[in-house]
Amino acid sequence: MTFVPLFACSFVLSCEPMRGLSKQDLLQIWEIGLHQHPVDRALTILAAVLPALPWEELAALSMGQRDGYLLAAWEHTFGDRLESYAECPQCAERLEFPLSAAALRASAQPEEIEPVQGWTVNEYAIQFRLPNSYDLAAIVACADPARAHDLLLSRCVLEVTRDGQSIATDALPATMVSRIAERITVCDPLAEVLLNLECPACARRWQTQFDIAAFFWSELTATARRLLREVHALARAYGWREADILALSAARRQFYLDMVS
Ligand SMILES: [Zn+2]
Repeated sequence: MTFVPLFACSFVLSCEPMRGLSKQDLLQIWEIGLHQHPVDRALTILAAVLPALPWEELAALSMGQRDGYLLAAWEHTFGDRLESYAECPQCAERLEFPLSAAALRASAQPEEIEPVQGWTVNEYAIQFRLPNSYDLAAIVACADPARAHDLLLSRCVLEVTRDGQSIATDALPATMVSRIAERITVCDPLAEVLLNLECPACARRWQTQFDIAAFFWSELTATARRLLREVHALARAYGWREADILALSAARRQFYLDMVS
């Protein structure tokens, strides 16, 4: 089994102070997120760890920036290690492997990401911006991936000129569309973290995407459910209030849980 992040962070997190999530935060985010789309769940997490940033600014972060912040939030809340797993597409063997949130972020290139970028290739001059949460929300309803791709392109490509003449995005040749998509990925690499995996049982090699937003939500859900079960056990045994039980250190809470089990 091997894993290699093909793309890594290429921006520097801003100096906004970030805090880890408390047990109360985790429960509150879980409660709110239950009724949200995954795009909004990620922003709900970020709003809790970056309270100084308004929602609109968080939603305008490029997807790579958003995921970089989520990785930092993970570190502040759960530590560096991400216990990942994947299932072999050939023999269904379950692969478990750790990732490092710090390593994913630390391979950042020094320059900060510019949300709007200019790029000249061949005879084309292109102005584009990096996709953000607003763009993701706009394509959520698209059942057709090709339609979603076109919509995303039309939102993010601001201007294309060829020999000084303006060109509509839907008039671009397919090769240029592909190159622009590749360019966006290069400019915002954390938006797509790909892992190279090899099955130890059948030696099948494949590539899979690591999605920190989904990973974070999954862990947050598991933690929230565990905390609520612990509150239930201790409240029933001792009559303590939820807030008082959550305020206990993990060691004390576990001690009392052992006593009542
Ligand atoms: Zn296999």
